Amino acid sequence: MTFPDSAKGSTRDDLAEGAREAALRLAGQAHVVGRDPDTEPWRVLIQWIRWWLSGWRRGWPVAAVRDALWQDMVSGERSGGWRTRAAVLGREHAFAVDYHLCRRCRLGWVERPHTMPEYQRCGLASAALAQLRAEHPGLFWHMLGGHFRESRPFWAAVGAGVPGGYQQREVCPHITNG
Ligand SMILES: [Zn+2]
Repeated sequence: MTFPDSAKGSTRDDLAEGAREAALRLAGQAHVVGRDPDTEPWRVLIQWIRWWLSGWRRGWPVAAVRDALWQDMVSGERSGGWRTRAAVLGREHAFAVDYHLCRRCRLGWVERPHTMPEYQRCGLASAALAQLRAEHPGLFWHMLGGHFRESRPFWAAVGAGVPGGYQQREVCPHITNG
């Protein structure tokens, strides 16, 4: 990401614009997923702790935005087969959502999608959900928890025409809710 010379001090607006462009690009690459099925849980935990400490609490230098990549990994927050699909910008998670599937019941759950503030409204969440649906066709999609009032318009839009519509639903007996 290069900025014009006039922006050498990295003005806030330029950084915000750079972040936005990177996030928009990333939203268009949701099908490019690096998988990490064998990652040891403690590594995942450390990854999430780092994210928690450095990422979504205080943000990070947008100048570090370089490589864009989506990753699929064992969830660091939920055991029992939950996975995390995350969009990586620089070395941080710009977006992450936990999900779980039950093929027997043809159900999929997503939980706690989170986009870093500077990358919001760039389509990362809807791109990730659309990608998961594309990878796992024929499922009915739900949320484990309820929708926050402010996120209802998002879910109404993203769930339109989707089997299940991301309505709240308890996990089936085949899933232990970690
Ligand atoms: Zn089931």
